[in-house]
Amino acid sequence: MKAEIISVGTELILGNTLNTNAHYISQGLTENGIEVLFHTSVLDDNKLLKSVINIALDRVDLLIFTGGLGPTGDDMTKEIISETLNLPLVLNLEIEKNIENYFRKSHRTMPKNNIKQAYIPKDSKYLKNDIGTAPGVYIEYNDKIIILLPGPPQEMKTMLDNYAIPLIKQEDIIKTKTINTVGIGESQLEMELKDIIENETNVNIATYAKMGNVDIRLVNKGKSEEKVDAELDRVLKSIEDRISEYIYSHENLSIEETLFNILKEKNMKIAFCESCTGGLITSKFTKIPGVSQVLDRGIVTYSNDSKIEELSVSKSLIDKYGAVSEEVALAMAKGLLEKTNTDICLSTTGIAGPTSGRETQPIGLVYIGIASKEQAFVKKLMLSGDRETIQNRASIKAFDELRKILK
Ligand code: ATP
Ligand code: MG
Repeated sequence: MKAEIISVGTELILGNTLNTNAHYISQGLTENGIEVLFHTSVLDDNKLLKSVINIALDRVDLLIFTGGLGPTGDDMTKEIISETLNLPLVLNLEIEKNIENYFRKSHRTMPKNNIKQAYIPKDSKYLKNDIGTAPGVYIEYNDKIIILLPGPPQEMKTMLDNYAIPLIKQEDIIKTKTINTVGIGESQLEMELKDIIENETNVNIATYAKMGNVDIRLVNKGKSEEKVDAELDRVLKSIEDRISEYIYSHENLSIEETLFNILKEKNMKIAFCESCTGGLITSKFTKIPGVSQVLDRGIVTYSNDSKIEELSVSKSLIDKYGAVSEEVALAMAKGLLEKTNTDICLSTTGIAGPTSGRETQPIGLVYIGIASKEQAFVKKLMLSGDRETIQNRASIKAFDELRKILK
């Protein structure tokens, strides 16, 4: 679990008070195996506090606030959090009674504004304050935990040690699984999985579109690791059964990294000859460290002459079918396999736009040729987008075709 400690108080920023709370909380969390990634301090300022909350929600699982839980008007931490998370504040009768008792014991009447402390965000728990009036708050929000502790160091310490840490520790095990897909758009993917997503009450399923592929992230939490794992596996399996042909990884790898691993495992060498992708495939592939184990070469054979000279494609074939054709794509891949000491070769030839040389050939038409000792075939693609997008999509398709036939 990754945590951020957020200290709220103008006096901390102006240098009037040393932030000993962050120090103490960090020690407590670290001792309990929770990884603290950030210390943030912020002025008593609604807008700034809001932005701090949103930033933290984006980067950690556990947010611990200290300060600003008191009864006065400048104590706004709880109110701003409730507003930001859209969780209304509701009166908690137990807290109200505790605060009344606190004042009764010291023979005082409760000031009116102390009732503010008895309100906590909907569906949250409160943390008892053994030595003051401001209770702490414990919120479970999506898969995040948000804890509010008071500012006075003694109050904060007893609450952290006695109530907050024990709760975090018995708290849920949170686990995630990722499914990387390629060749299917985000909206189509959501359509395919609509009923699974809608009917699933435990596991949170979300899709994230990246350039050229979509990730599906499953998040589950609970008290028992076995149950958390079993539920995740159940959902994973139902998604896999539904869209298996689009899944290329569960490890957040890129499509080219997945191909690299397959080639490495099979101890195979590959070479590329690229026309319309202009070296993009080779460039992406060579970004992977250690790729020399599997990559023999990548050459850009853009002109007809280069296809003839480098790959021994016959001039008559190009004259007859054109450079952007199934026949030439195949001849390119086969030619490269002949010339090199490799196990598999891939070629690209197509029209990336924005204009097409031949009236009859639409922009986005790309042929991918693949040749190995066992087989040779061509895949015809119709891609959309501007020049760069078409090149990028072609490169992703190329890696995916190779992955599919090698698997
Ligand atoms: P109160 O009910 O006292 O108003 P509060 O939760 O609203 O409590 P603050 O008003 O922010 O907390 O601070 C109360 C006292 O605790 C102040 O004296 C302040 O200097 C001290 N304090 C607040 N935050 C910290 C911190 N991070 N480190 C050390 N002292 C702190
Ligand atoms: Mg205060």
